[in-house]
Amino acid sequence: MAFEDIPVDVGLIYEGERIRKAQMYADLAGPKSFGAELLRVKPMDEVEDEKVTVIGPDFKDMEQGKAYPFCIYVEVAGEKLEEDLEGVFERRIHDFCNYVQGFMHLNSRDIIWCRVSKDAVSKGLSLHHVGKVLARIFKQEYEAIKKVQVTFITEPEKAKEFIEMAREVYEKRDSRARGLKDEEVDVFYGCVLCQSFAPTHVCAITPSRPSSCGAITWFEGRAAVKVDPKGPIFEIPKGELLDPVKGEYSGINKVFAEKSGGTVTRVFLHSVFEHPHTSCGCFEAIAFYIPEVDGIGIVHRDFRGVTPFGIPFSTMAGQVGGGVQTDGFVGIGVEYMRSSKFLQADGGWKRIVWMPKALKERVLNAIPEELRDKIATEEDATDLESLKKFLEEKNHPVVERWAKEEEKKEEAEEKPEEEYVEMPTVEAKAFAPGVGNITIVFKNAKIYAEKIIIKRGSK
Ligand code: SF4
Repeated sequence: MAFEDIPVDVGLIYEGERIRKAQMYADLAGPKSFGAELLRVKPMDEVEDEKVTVIGPDFKDMEQGKAYPFCIYVEVAGEKLEEDLEGVFERRIHDFCNYVQGFMHLNSRDIIWCRVSKDAVSKGLSLHHVGKVLARIFKQEYEAIKKVQVTFITEPEKAKEFIEMAREVYEKRDSRARGLKDEEVDVFYGCVLCQSFAPTHVCAITPSRPSSCGAITWFEGRAAVKVDPKGPIFEIPKGELLDPVKGEYSGINKVFAEKSGGTVTRVFLHSVFEHPHTSCGCFEAIAFYIPEVDGIGIVHRDFRGVTPFGIPFSTMAGQVGGGVQTDGFVGIGVEYMRSSKFLQADGGWKRIVWMPKALKERVLNAIPEELRDKIATEEDATDLESLKKFLEEKNHPVVERWAKEEEKKEEAEEKPEEEYVEMPTVEAKAFAPGVGNITIVFKNAKIYAEKIIIKRGSK
């Protein structure tokens, strides 16, 4: 691939490159600013191949150490392309951007966070170069893509307009998959794109559980396999439904075992407990069990405050990401919260006790009406004590669980413990008629007795 005109190296080896604060020239979108990325399939005559447009300041015009709004708009054209592929191609912006030495891309959709290094800017890297690289890699990776044009927006007002437009497109894509259920399809899809930084992570993409990054729905998985059968997205035969409530399928277990090198052998699609789905690092939100109230909280990436545990999203994400399964925690896409199977094995919405206000407003229509004012936000509860008080006051369904738990504890306390003495081996002498004296040997015996009398031995 020709990259002679790019002033830094370009290649797969830079995919895992992290640009730390000390090496950073400028932050683009991310927690200190805003941004989004979008890819659209366009007619051939509407795309000018390798055209790159920058609206707003390019790197050289940015102030070192500052954060800027940042939007990436990729338009692709090709006779065989269909709209269903947009989400899949859009997710590749992440890894293709990361091929550029000194440029880092994290997350997806309207929660992207990019960074450019001082070293890359000093070598002359510009957004024009990044756009050219994106266009060329897209064409190289997908034969069906014939033309690519890229627009970057760093000007705040234009970026805001773009984000609104992008959100409408995301909503249209997501709503298409709503209503379709796991039992209504013959195959699921899997994705291993995130294995570059989370080696044991596999995403199971089913109609009822969209991807953790929120960027790929079941329909998009299906379209991806058609256009790129040997790519990172693949079919998962469902196999046997082992547990309809937890969402355990033999086909998913098999594929996870193969693709995770044997690390993950069981997956529950719809539970945070025991064998939750693996979590990479791109998830849009985390569902986390709060034992103190026996409920589940959800925190999303954009939330800058702390959860009732006293830690922010970033700290929790660091503990549960990397491709592992953590009992009581799971990375999810926001769209999954709209699924009729959302954490159904754990009680679904009846078990959700806390979430940031902004997230609650975003998924409000999916929350059963009678529960809406019973789920606390950061405005109602900031720690475990205030959360417990809020749930009690609102008579949240988990409060009933507390009463049951108390009853169980009391019953256990009332039940006298059975006393017994464990003896590794016990021998008993007996007389059997017709046989004579016999010895009976009990191995690992447990002897129950109402009373034990110990007598001094007589000589
Ligand atoms: S989060 Fe899942 S679906 Fe999204 S890119 Fe990563 S592996 Fe693929």
